Amino acid sequence: MGLIKYVMSLMNGARLGVGAQSVGISEAAYREALKYAHERAQFGKPIIQFPAVYEMLAVIKAKLQASRALLYETTRFVDVYKSYNFIAEERKLTPEERTEAKQFQKLADMFTPMLKLMSSEYSNQNAYDSLQIHGGSGFMKEYPIERIYRDARITTIYEGTSQLQVVAAQRYVTTGGYLNQIREYEKVPVRAEFEPLKKILVRMTEQYEQAVAMVAGQENEYIDFHARRLVEMASHIVMSYLLLIDAQTDESFEKSAEIYIGKSAAWNDERYSYIKDFTASDLATFASIKEETVPEA
Ligand SMILES: Cc1cc2nc3c(=O)[nH]c(=O)nc-3n(C[C@H](O)[C@H](O)[C@H](O)COP(=O)(O)OP(=O)(O)OC[C@H]3O[C@@H](n4cnc5c(N)ncnc54)[C@H](O)[C@@H]3O)c2cc1C
Repeated sequence: MGLIKYVMSLMNGARLGVGAQSVGISEAAYREALKYAHERAQFGKPIIQFPAVYEMLAVIKAKLQASRALLYETTRFVDVYKSYNFIAEERKLTPEERTEAKQFQKLADMFTPMLKLMSSEYSNQNAYDSLQIHGGSGFMKEYPIERIYRDARITTIYEGTSQLQVVAAQRYVTTGGYLNQIREYEKVPVRAEFEPLKKILVRMTEQYEQAVAMVAGQENEYIDFHARRLVEMASHIVMSYLLLIDAQTDESFEKSAEIYIGKSAAWNDERYSYIKDFTASDLATFASIKEETVPEA
């Protein structure tokens, strides 16, 4: 293995680790929020009875389950290609095996930055919302959530910041790698009662394709400016499909699939609309911040 390939594989291993750590942090944030929301009473009832609180809890759980589904999918890709690497030490792989090993290695490379980006960002959002559910007590040291909140903060930074994960992931937006994999998920049959959710995902995929087409072919700076939006749009669709597929065999995913797909459709609508109405002159307005300096005290 060459040096660059070796370093890349080390980095991907560490990013997978932070992806898993982030799922653990989200799980802890969810459990603490759920416990506190049952225990804490305000206005004569437990705070979990308030829509503002139970919406936050349900979204924390949906983001947690979506992150875990993406973690398991990514580690599955890694397991398959690494197994072929181990077999190749014992004997020559057949041409079919070599093709499959390459295909899974590509999927692992494609999904690792997506996992690191989404899982770490969700662990931060989940820790933030869990702390919010704790109110003032969450800001103090009496409850585990203050520690969980601090632990979450590093995950979007070490082993490559979220911005660097976008740099790694954006080539799979422009080359169509994510779209091809989304099309594979689209082929997985779902039960009749899940068809309306699948229809939403098919519409989101068309919208994602249109958004990519609007950005592709523009100047590099314009593409870089929108890269995170596009990677997130692809991620929302992938994570939605994984939850939907899990819901076919395990009913504990059903509610999160419904909630996550509904939220994802709205998040992607916002990103699409921003890209659609964006012009080169908008980019210049943002870029003008580069001329600013800190005023003398
Ligand atoms: C607790 C802790 C433990 C650590 N452990 C290790 C370790 O064991 N091994 C190790 O090697 N490192 C370790 N690190 C370092 C860590 O990996 C780096 O801090 C991290 O990769 C970010 O690099 P940086 O701090 O130099 O930030 P910078 O690269 O200076 O980034 C600053 C900002 O600029 C943005 N930015 C930079 N380049 C780009 C770009 N091309 N496009 C868009 N935005 C960009 C970043 O996203 C960020 O917002 C650790 C850090 C901490 C805090």
